[in-house]
Amino acid sequence: MVDNVILECPFCSKKTISAVYIPPMTDAHTTRTSAGAKTKFYQTKEKYEIQSGCSNCGKSQKEVQKALKEGISDVDKEKKIFERLKAQGIVKDEMTTKV
Ligand SMILES: [Zn+2]
Repeated sequence: MVDNVILECPFCSKKTISAVYIPPMTDAHTTRTSAGAKTKFYQTKEKYEIQSGCSNCGKSQKEVQKALKEGISDVDKEKKIFERLKAQGIVKDEMTTKV
């Protein structure tokens, strides 16, 4: 199911960007093992597909798309946080646990 939505322009904050909202979906993958069938569920991320540019400040569809994408890229942010924690010695690449 998809929805047509109006998003705020990342440049001028006016509600001018028409987009299609694609909700998160659950994908099931079944693999056969010796113990039987195993089903794993994967959650896809919700996303917006930008359909227009900004009629207020004149940014193109591409520019809006790029700005929104960079603004929402949590993956990069998380990576940076992780690297900082690693540098501080809080998180290690490999964890050893004593049994
Ligand atoms: Zn704008």
